[in-house]
Amino acid sequence: MNPATQRFSVRTSRREEYVDITDSVRSAVRAAGVTDGICTVFIPHTTAAVTINENADPDVQRDLVHAFARAVPNTGFHHSEGNSDAHTKTAMTGSSAVVIVEGGQLLLGTWQGIYLCEFDGPRTRQVWVKAVG
Ligand code: ZN
Repeated sequence: MNPATQRFSVRTSRREEYVDITDSVRSAVRAAGVTDGICTVFIPHTTAAVTINENADPDVQRDLVHAFARAVPNTGFHHSEGNSDAHTKTAMTGSSAVVIVEGGQLLLGTWQGIYLCEFDGPRTRQVWVKAVG
């Protein structure tokens, strides 16, 4: 039998930002007791997403926010809530990421971190982690 899904929440502080959740995912995998297998990180929201990207220079996350703003201006949409840019950025980024677990560690590249992508904050977001061995 596989361990239960681990859940934690993240409080974001801006409308758009990237929050490094690598340590929390690592803790969730540890709590699940999986040392070799696969871990899925899933974001159960329609205006927040997950991605794996550079964790060394914070300018990379700022550049991503600006690049997405240029790519998806919040104009010309129909959705009355007024946040279709956030829905679109979520669709472009994706709701899940998969990481290999080996020897009890997340098998990430040297410069990789796992990020919750907030596109319509600030809000409290949920993160679900399922590790299977
Ligand atoms: Zn909406």
